[in-house]
Amino acid sequence: MLLPAETALPAPELPLAAGVFLLLLAPAIGSFLGVLVDRLPRGEDVLWRRSQCRSCAAALAPWELLPILSFCASGGRCRHCGAAIPAWALYLEIAALGVAVLALAAGGGLGAVLFSCLFLWGLLALALCDLLWLRLPDPLTAGLFLVVLIWAGSAGLQALGFALLGAGLGLGSFYALRWGYQHLRGREGLGLGDVKLMAALGGFAGPLDLPLLVLIAALTALGGGGIAHLRRPEQASATGLAQQPLPFGAALCAAAALLWLLRGLDLLWL
Ligand SMILES: [Zn+2]
Repeated sequence: MLLPAETALPAPELPLAAGVFLLLLAPAIGSFLGVLVDRLPRGEDVLWRRSQCRSCAAALAPWELLPILSFCASGGRCRHCGAAIPAWALYLEIAALGVAVLALAAGGGLGAVLFSCLFLWGLLALALCDLLWLRLPDPLTAGLFLVVLIWAGSAGLQALGFALLGAGLGLGSFYALRWGYQHLRGREGLGLGDVKLMAALGGFAGPLDLPLLVLIAALTALGGGGIAHLRRPEQASATGLAQQPLPFGAALCAAAALLWLLRGLDLLWL
């Protein structure tokens, strides 16, 4: 897929002040991603509902919502009831900051850095939703698809065509896989969320890198499933390893992030 960085005119470098602002903003974005991960799979409002403790329902004061700092200051516990705040909330804020650092290190103009951030933040939220809930909420997959389309569109019609072709192939092949498995085995083998996710990831990968993306995801999922089997052998043997629900969407997100990294390092030959 042709990317804007490959077009004739080099993009202007990002001003230093914009980079610093992005680094300061990133943990707060991570905090908002945490809200999305926590509420979207439950069907709760993500914009207007006040932040509150899940255990005692106490409303959280503004100073209890400072990204990274509040978690560390409270020792990861609610100051009202002492219930543990899930550690993934802290990890997500740190990872969102890591994404901003990576995007800035990858370079390019404001558009390239923003695309990298939005794309990788979206992958983070989707992967965590799948790991925690085995769900890939529609607003997140649709948002990711929109980000990919806008980025491809900014590179011209040819890049947009490649992205749409990749999206169609990703969506179509995964839907066929889901349909075929369901008819052969009589039960669901691939979630509809994974199928929808492939519109965004197929669009990002393009038709040429799509097989590589799926291969990396399959190997990641197999590796993850194997490790889970080793850690909880009794659970796996009770139901059979093949019967265990596997967060394949998380593996797809990890593969897409790796593809982003490989492209940034110019390690792909296509
Ligand atoms: Zn509480």
